[in-house]
Amino acid sequence: MGKPKKEAMQLAPRRSLPTGSQIGRVMACIFSWLLVRFDRAVGAAAIAGTQAHDELFQTIEHGAPSPWDMGALLAWLVADGGKPKGELALAYDAKADTAKALGQNIGREYAKHGADPFSQFCLSLDAVAIQGSRARLLDLKTGRSEGDPWQLKLGAVALARAFDLDEVIACFWYRDSSGLGIDRLMEWRWGSMDLAGFAEELNQLQLTLEGAPPAMGAKEGEHCTYCHSFAACPAKMNLARSLVAEATAPGVTMGAEFTALTPAEAGLAWERLIQAEALVKHIRTGLEGYATQQPIQLSDGRQVRAVEAQRESILGPVAYAVLAQAFNVETAESCCPPATSKAAITDALGKEEGARALELIGAAGGIQVKTFQQVKALKPPKAPKDL
Ligand code: SF4
Repeated sequence: MGKPKKEAMQLAPRRSLPTGSQIGRVMACIFSWLLVRFDRAVGAAAIAGTQAHDELFQTIEHGAPSPWDMGALLAWLVADGGKPKGELALAYDAKADTAKALGQNIGREYAKHGADPFSQFCLSLDAVAIQGSRARLLDLKTGRSEGDPWQLKLGAVALARAFDLDEVIACFWYRDSSGLGIDRLMEWRWGSMDLAGFAEELNQLQLTLEGAPPAMGAKEGEHCTYCHSFAACPAKMNLARSLVAEATAPGVTMGAEFTALTPAEAGLAWERLIQAEALVKHIRTGLEGYATQQPIQLSDGRQVRAVEAQRESILGPVAYAVLAQAFNVETAESCCPPATSKAAITDALGKEEGARALELIGAAGGIQVKTFQQVKALKPPKAPKDL
């Protein structure tokens, strides 16, 4: 059998500089910017996110009543006395270290508003409030993924240069999706030295992106999850090919002799398992998106397609009240056992009060410890010291 033909890497034509939402991944893996990109199906979570951002803008700019509780978010924004602005678009030139405001709520139409996306980093900030030489910058997160601080760092530098600021307090505001109104906040405070450091790193990135493709490989990591170049990425394709080749190799049986593996082989297999899980998840998400647009025909005649499904769930407090009234409190308690978690209590009461509450609950015998076995990747235990 001859050697498999090496495919040419699918490099993208010259492209504009990354925007705010793309900068984190490009900082982590420059390949994600150099390879061709593929559109992804827009999922329900993205649509809900767009709607929440629009509601935030309408409330900030027009005082519209919001369908969700924005009290704490708005209080954080105006804590220094600045007047909030929504959807502020900026263009940052990293070579000149200058920025300009393009307008508000302009969507992604940066070029139409006077920016050059090929030589400027363009971005839209969800909400800002400027007071004197300090600004507050808030990015609203509605999904389950964690924000990349580079998104805020780029926003902070652009804001500081456009409005001559020397301090930016930035946060990711994670909106609670459970309906309990327990939002989560991740905050940073950056002074002029921090901002100058970010500006220098952005300048380096711009120089690299404008130059020849770097002779470095793709850098895999968590940032791959939403990468638009996943399907053209040599690292992912090599993994997919080797998995298929191994799974279909003669003599390979499921549940093979794991005990026959050497420790080194087991370590390698574990690392590849984690990578393969991410790859499989990505393929499933892509195919599910495809199936919502058009059915996928399977070789056995079945079709994979989107169907409407319903799942009923009972609201505990409502059920408790009804059962207590219709039957009695004992019945209500046995049907609706109250359940909570350490994280929910700490989120609701804050760190200090949460710790006090947990201590009281523990003292009252309200914390049960169940021991079970878990398999995780951890640092090796420290060797015992010689006596
Ligand atoms: S999939 Fe990951 S490793 Fe490949 S280009 Fe994208 S970010 Fe880089």
